[in-house]
Amino acid sequence: MILVSACLAGFNCRYDGGNKENKEIIRLVKEGKAIPVCPEQLAGLPIPRKAVEEKASGKIYAEDGEEFTDIFIKGAEETLRIAKMYQCTKAILKSHSPSCGTNQVYDGSFSGNLKAGHGVTTKLLKENGIEVISEKDYNLEH
Ligand code: SF4
Repeated sequence: MILVSACLAGFNCRYDGGNKENKEIIRLVKEGKAIPVCPEQLAGLPIPRKAVEEKASGKIYAEDGEEFTDIFIKGAEETLRIAKMYQCTKAILKSHSPSCGTNQVYDGSFSGNLKAGHGVTTKLLKENGIEVISEKDYNLEH
């Protein structure tokens, strides 16, 4: 079973109440090969919610200075619990997200700039031996 970001499967769970529907990801879910999860929903955050980014300190903040680091860690831990329950060895997660990003995330300036690094959930999944790629990498492979 592959873990996938729920927003890629068409669920309206993004901070702005929208999704990032991806036909290939939806196909995997419909074929019973993937399970959609949203770490930020699992953490108990509402939809819509404040946009957040990771600062240079590694902590997660909204633009108004409210800190979300602990709740993002909670979402990552709950996602890992599901990944273990379904014995997922691979995850396809939404690029650039502060939770789900792989290799690049927004740089904390809220200006659309990227920096090297993983989202909070991606980091925890990788630390636990789960391969994580972005939907962009997956689309290139398929
Ligand atoms: Fe999508 Fe992940 Fe953000 Fe949820 S936390 S909306 S699954 S990118």
